[in-house]
Amino acid sequence: MKELTPGIWTHAIDAEGFPTVCGVILTERRAFVVDTLTTPDDMRPVLEFLAVSAGDRRLVVVNTHHHWDHVYGNAAFAQADIVAQQVCPRLIQAQLDSADEMLRLPPAEGVPLPGITFGDRLTYADRDESVHLIHTPGHSEDSLVVFLTRARVLFAGDTVEWPLPNFAQRDGMEAWVTTLRRLKQLPVDLVVPSHGRAMDKAIIDANESYILGVYEAVAAAKARGVPRGELDLAPARFLGPAAAAATDAVYEAVHRENLLWAWDEV
Ligand SMILES: [Zn+2]
Repeated sequence: MKELTPGIWTHAIDAEGFPTVCGVILTERRAFVVDTLTTPDDMRPVLEFLAVSAGDRRLVVVNTHHHWDHVYGNAAFAQADIVAQQVCPRLIQAQLDSADEMLRLPPAEGVPLPGITFGDRLTYADRDESVHLIHTPGHSEDSLVVFLTRARVLFAGDTVEWPLPNFAQRDGMEAWVTTLRRLKQLPVDLVVPSHGRAMDKAIIDANESYILGVYEAVAAAKARGVPRGELDLAPARFLGPAAAAATDAVYEAVHRENLLWAWDEV
């Protein structure tokens, strides 16, 4: 467990090459866990931390969206309130029922579905902090972010990602760009993506210009008659120098997939 700022911690794992974090937030009366990673076992350090530090705070587990690397540890918190956007339980169930061999098998303990859901926004107000869960469609239909008013911190789920966003199973380009423009209005100093390092709001601009740039370039290539499998558009073309330098083989593969997702949509 790493303390990010007073009262806020992260726990990081490697999920098949993707650095992936969950968050822990202690407010006066509640202990929030943001995402449960890939298995209940991933959450052991968080459970040990809560046993020592949470006291009698009420536990609130948040799923930022239904993808396996954010919810497959839910069984570690089977007795707790698990909260998500209202579409999330159905999408988790569909993922569990899917015969798609590309999807990771769920853990033996199963994946308890979120029992508390909301539409646009849900706020937990404690005396020392207000924690807002805000629906942010784009990366997925059910994506949400966790905004801490007093700390000026945003847990962004996969709504933003470093060094570049992942289009797989996204909810459409326009919804995502609209979401990112809304997020930029929030008074936030630190953005914590589920994948990548915590940084300032520049990550939101970087993701927006990547998304817009990729769709524009893919549409232009398609109009010129370039076949789907022959798109030759290097990631650095759509990234600033820092993000380009951070793009490893894993994210080069994500970028190649993103080109295909964009091709199918434009
Ligand atoms: Zn995701």
